[in-house]
Amino acid sequence: SLRDASYFWYLCHISAFGLVLFTLNGLGFEYLWPESPWLADHMVPISICLALLAMLQFARTFLELSHRAPRLNLGTIGLIAFFVLFGIASVWLPYRISTPIASRAVLVGVLWIMFTTIYVVRQGYAPAKLLLLAWSMFLLGTAVFTLLAFGMLPKNFATEYGVQIGSALEMLLLSIALGYRYAQLRNENQRIINDANQQLERKVAQRTQEVRHALVQLEEAHERLRDSSRRDALTGLYNRSYFHEGFDEQLAECRDGRRPLSLLMVDLDHFKSINDRHGHLVGDDCLRWAAQRIGKVLRQHDALLARFGGEEFVVVLPGHDLHSAVAVAEELRQALASEPCVSQELRLRISASIGVHTIAPEAGDDIDDALETADRALYAAKANGRDCVRTSISAA
Ligand code: GH3
Ligand code: MG
Ligand code: MG
Repeated sequence: SLRDASYFWYLCHISAFGLVLFTLNGLGFEYLWPESPWLADHMVPISICLALLAMLQFARTFLELSHRAPRLNLGTIGLIAFFVLFGIASVWLPYRISTPIASRAVLVGVLWIMFTTIYVVRQGYAPAKLLLLAWSMFLLGTAVFTLLAFGMLPKNFATEYGVQIGSALEMLLLSIALGYRYAQLRNENQRIINDANQQLERKVAQRTQEVRHALVQLEEAHERLRDSSRRDALTGLYNRSYFHEGFDEQLAECRDGRRPLSLLMVDLDHFKSINDRHGHLVGDDCLRWAAQRIGKVLRQHDALLARFGGEEFVVVLPGHDLHSAVAVAEELRQALASEPCVSQELRLRISASIGVHTIAPEAGDDIDDALETADRALYAAKANGRDCVRTSISAA
């Protein structure tokens, strides 16, 4: 039931030893085999061999000799082989010869186990100490019995039943030793389980950390991707589709706060001729330069700037009425006109026409209406000679 070899051999040893005592004190002949004097003669060496080989096997497995003391393990196996062979031989050997040999072999067997046990105790295997004590009890009992047999001790209860008392104590101690060993094995198992659990927990924590890290990286990549999908590749400004999103949000916010919102359409003047004269690369430089200049001016204002397409930019100024929007537009115009753009050692004058439209909080304009009106103002600025600012009101 325990699936432990040492416990099995312990039971075999107890049974066989019981048989030895039964045979020695005549109870076997009296109750078990009254009809067979042959068995009464031969049972002594046979039961001794059985008891000893079980005892040696028990010691071998209990002390874990195969890995604690491989040489002593081999010696023990040799002794076991002897008891097996001698036990078989006892079936044929005459009682007078086999019994004295068996009795001496018992002494050799017990001394061998004592020696082996001491060796393992010295190695620091704690359960072996109890085993040593158990064998000592047995040896003491046997010694007392032997001394009595030689007339060296007085005959009383303790000396007469020395073997029985000694072996009873031995059995008791052996069972305690087995219990002790189980407790140790159980603790060892628990330790292994705890270790494994801790390792598992560490691994889970590590994996969780890795997954968390990967999620953060994914989130960052997602953020970068989203941002780049909102940007114009040439100028780095927001693109037209993001402008639509941003405009709707700002307009809704301004309406909620009962504030005006202004829209600026900025178109570079005669830009086609720059391309035609100096090539597209110079044209690109000029577009980047213009985007930068406009962006710099708008930094002081809470504005949304986007490239609307080609050489056109659009600016949303939440909270700005027409007056302050015109002021910002004028600032932008001057920022472009005041300095030339330098590209491929060329100094190019760049100007812009700007159309301004302001949506009052109560007005029902949507984005298309607003763009159309701002575009009309821009057209008026172009018509008015370019490099100037016009509003939707003045355009009308
Ligand atoms: P106007 O003053 O009336 O606005 O004249 P314009 O030449 O600026 O206007 P038009 O619409 O005739 O030409 C716009 C030019 O802008 C045409 C095109 O070559 C140029 N353009 C648009 N996008 C880009 C670009 O990404 N890079 C370059 N280099 N040029 C561009
Ligand atoms: Mg244009
Ligand atoms: Mg233009």
